[in-house]
Amino acid sequence: MNPLVWLVLDSCRYDSFVRAAKPNLDAFAAANRAPVERRWSYASFTAPSHYAFLMGLTPHASPAGVVASEVYRAEFSRWSARLGVENIDFTSFLPHLSLPRVLKGLGYRTVGRVSLPVLNQATLLSTHFDDYRLMEHHADFAGMIRDMTFTAGQPSFHFFNLGETHYPYLLGDDLPRLSGVHGTLKHMGDAARAAPAGLPFDVQTMAKLHSQQSRCVERVDALFADLLARCPRGTHIIVTADHGELFGENNHFGHGPVMHEKVFEVPFLEGRIL
Ligand SMILES: [Zn+2]
Repeated sequence: MNPLVWLVLDSCRYDSFVRAAKPNLDAFAAANRAPVERRWSYASFTAPSHYAFLMGLTPHASPAGVVASEVYRAEFSRWSARLGVENIDFTSFLPHLSLPRVLKGLGYRTVGRVSLPVLNQATLLSTHFDDYRLMEHHADFAGMIRDMTFTAGQPSFHFFNLGETHYPYLLGDDLPRLSGVHGTLKHMGDAARAAPAGLPFDVQTMAKLHSQQSRCVERVDALFADLLARCPRGTHIIVTADHGELFGENNHFGHGPVMHEKVFEVPFLEGRIL
């Protein structure tokens, strides 16, 4: 059975990913002859999107001319090839519809590390993980890699939600703290902290933030080399995002209660360490 690593670059829209200089991710894609795909998230914000992931559903390709159940059936069957296990299909996921539970049933050790408080260990998302926790720092992919362990004779599943590509895009205190947008929940009910009406940035600033999201992908790419060095040969890796981000389109900033193509458009890449 193949070790499995699933990286979710939170809020990383497709064009930010494609425009980034990312030699390690590109080399991984080339070695697997699996170019980065433009796919679509099932949801426009973090929690439901991760719920779909942990059901075993990756972002979809919006195929025409087929009914949804056939798309789901094909997607669940993909896990056989990813894991190197025969006869995994939709029925393997019943009745819990949980990827970590399927993996535990196969003997995997299941590890979740998340950066966004909305995914914290008290939520339903942690169910069926052996070891799941919210990271202490918002952008600590390096720490997630450092803590990875592999046990001889037991395959592992590492599910990582990365905050690097989420607002404030590694800019720290240089940007205003925006509850909800920032990924912080605890101050949302605090009227004294309520954000002023209107968008927090002008068009020029939002264009810079969009570019900065690509710089964040570049940071992730540098660490991706460390991940590859850490994982055993044969490890299957998925790289994607939970949703996109708007940088001024239709007078929107961010993601969530927004209906726009760029909120659903995400990168998708998968392959194996050869
Ligand atoms: Zn998110």
